[in-house]
Amino acid sequence: KANGRNRAVVFHEHMNELLQLRHTVEGELREALRRDDQLSVSFQPLFTPDRKVMGAEALARWTHPKYGPISPAQFIPVAESAGLIEALGDAVLRRALEMGGHWPERTIAVNISPAQLRNPKFQSRVFELLALTGMRPGDLELEITEGILLEDEMVTTETLRAFRAAGIKIALDDFGTGYSSLNYLKRYAVDRIKIDRSFISQLGEDQTSSAIVQAMVTLAHAMGIEVTAEGVETEKQLTVLRDMGCNTIQGYLLAPPIDPDKAAALFAQGAVR
Ligand code: C2E
Ligand code: CA
Ligand code: CA
Ligand code: CA
Repeated sequence: KANGRNRAVVFHEHMNELLQLRHTVEGELREALRRDDQLSVSFQPLFTPDRKVMGAEALARWTHPKYGPISPAQFIPVAESAGLIEALGDAVLRRALEMGGHWPERTIAVNISPAQLRNPKFQSRVFELLALTGMRPGDLELEITEGILLEDEMVTTETLRAFRAAGIKIALDDFGTGYSSLNYLKRYAVDRIKIDRSFISQLGEDQTSSAIVQAMVTLAHAMGIEVTAEGVETEKQLTVLRDMGCNTIQGYLLAPPIDPDKAAALFAQGAVR
């Protein structure tokens, strides 16, 4: 019993620490957004299965002056719960579209949080940034997660419809990790699915993963939807995915996220699409 009580005390203290940490991260993130000199955007190149660069996904980066680089896996959820994701997302979008304005024919993919998509002003902001940067709508791809579709809200549906009507592509991110993914493919028109890394990592190792990925690719293609595989780390995975007819490859095997200058240099050399 004493032991149980101790554990509760330890747990309690740990919780306090976590809450404290979260509080600190939130404050620091607020400051970083205000100063605008700690946040940056990396670009992870996207390739055809025969290794031609097609574009890149914009990924938020935060380098704290004292704590160094902080992973988006940590600070994006904090930004979301603290109401900072719209400011952060806007900064990423702005930088991504600036890049896109300079590189016609390259796809620039941007992650969009549910809170951004739910904001009625988001639609006009995207069109404003397209006009400002000269980026072509057809080169922009917005990555959303299926959770937002689950909510089935008017604003969201209308915004996605307007984007697609303008030629902006919609990709379903982390495909396969949520609920009843296949339902959404039927109900909502999307241009692409991005098969989550967790399915890709076992490719070529076990039969089940290969069968699942093959089924996803076949189904998507039957519906006129393109497929990106994320987290491709080995030649074996690349070969399997190419043979399956996967359209786009993303992962450390071909390129990690790189800074905008390096991405621009890569865009300048490779053949287009
Ligand atoms: P995501 O959208 O699934 O992005 C892909 C993540 O996988 C990136 O992590 C990328 O660096 C990593 N990755 C790429 N290739 C490989 C690989 O071959 N192996 C492994 N193990 N990992 C690979 P990152 O940059 O840490 O981002 C994590 C997540 O944070 C993203 O996952 C995305 O959900 C979120 N995120 C990042 N930037 C933004 C943003 O600007 N807005 C929003 N809303 N979310 C963002
Ligand atoms: Ca993504
Ligand atoms: Ca993803
Ligand atoms: Ca993922």
